Amino acid sequence: MNFRVGFGFDTHALIPGSGLRLGGVTIPFDKTFKAHSDGDVLIHAIIDGLLGAAGLPDIGNQFPDTDPAYKGIDSAILLKETIERITARGFSVGNIDTTIVLQNPKIATRIPAIVDTLSKTMNLAPDCISVKAKTSEKLGFIGREEGVSAYAVVLLTR
Ligand code: MG
Repeated sequence: MNFRVGFGFDTHALIPGSGLRLGGVTIPFDKTFKAHSDGDVLIHAIIDGLLGAAGLPDIGNQFPDTDPAYKGIDSAILLKETIERITARGFSVGNIDTTIVLQNPKIATRIPAIVDTLSKTMNLAPDCISVKAKTSEKLGFIGREEGVSAYAVVLLTR
């Protein structure tokens, strides 16, 4: 079997608003992401990991933020489309391991819902999906609640 590893990263700024979209789940909060899409950093990191492992151009090339078709789009739709594009090239996902870095809100209790949503969107078993959340110990832009980052490692098989 042919194994391919991929890595993805994303950051979005926070602005006043209502709720964060993370892993396709809306989490109540008094801020939201500044973004062309819904700003779902976790899904964007996963998409870039998938594309990197498949040897495809990154998310900005696949879904340009200059294209009005993607304005305010639910990133789960982009993830589903990415899965279709890599499946068409003969790849299937082995597992993903991800970390969200944010100071607030606390999202530990939302992780099962995020895993469930990703599982359905990616057609991947929940035990092949790891989602972790950490703070930055109040350091830097994340600590000041100016933004949120996410990292994803992906294994593909062909
Ligand atoms: Mg993004």
